[in-house]
Amino acid sequence: MTWRRWLAAFSVLAVCASLGIVVSAAPPMKALIVDGQNNHNWQETTPVLKQLLEETELFAVDVATSPPKKSDMSGFKPKFAGYDVVVSNYTGDEWPDETKQALVDYVSAGGGLVIYHAANNAFPQWKEYNEMIAIGGWGGRNEKSGPYLRWQDGKAVLDNSPGRGGGHGPRHDFQIVVRDADHPITKGLPSVFMHYSDELYSWLRGPAKNVKILATAFSDKEKRGSGEHEPMLMTISFSEGRVFHTALGHAGQQCRSVAFIATFLRGTEWAATGKVTQKVPDDMPGPDAPVLRQ
Ligand code: ZN
Repeated sequence: MTWRRWLAAFSVLAVCASLGIVVSAAPPMKALIVDGQNNHNWQETTPVLKQLLEETELFAVDVATSPPKKSDMSGFKPKFAGYDVVVSNYTGDEWPDETKQALVDYVSAGGGLVIYHAANNAFPQWKEYNEMIAIGGWGGRNEKSGPYLRWQDGKAVLDNSPGRGGGHGPRHDFQIVVRDADHPITKGLPSVFMHYSDELYSWLRGPAKNVKILATAFSDKEKRGSGEHEPMLMTISFSEGRVFHTALGHAGQQCRSVAFIATFLRGTEWAATGKVTQKVPDDMPGPDAPVLRQ
């Protein structure tokens, strides 16, 4: 570019600035969604999650898609460290050791991680991953994986009784009950709000260390549940890092439930920064009926 062109470009910018025109406002944060294998329809949910995050204008979102099942994973090396927050929509084959270590290093150094629904099924044998998610299900998880984590008599309780890790009955609408109303993620939300026709994850178990339960749902035995108040929204501290774990959001339709949207977006912002600047949405449901966005 010649100096004349520089001058012309500078003049245009100067005019825009004097007219108060914002030429471009890049979102302040970078998010990475990891997918590529899942016992759920990640091809459907990742674009929904990406759009939700981008609509906040807080995040620019990239997606790292692994090779399909039973193929060579050695080249799957997302650059976690370049992001403010990593959202896992992955459960499937083991990652290369280098990739696992990169995620541990990223979170340990203060990175944000969001564990979304079936991502808590992943990696039953990976010690640090299970510490990051606190509790998980399926994949052969049992009492050797750690205790169940439940809400009883106003507090979190660990239950070491033997049994399976992970289960749920048929999908149904259920209430989310806030158990910590002072956390940035839940502050200002209704104390009880209805979620739309989802799997109510129950019997999750794991190391359950450094975990805070933000909200629970009652897993009714009449719906083939555990009869316990099961954790739905959690935060976990892992070294310097922040993890937000949501058990909600089975498929695209569940991700249109405002109970999911509001908590997922607030949790992702918190994982990225430790703060939440988003307002509670105007269409936030109360205790009686779910709200679905079109
Ligand atoms: Zn599911």
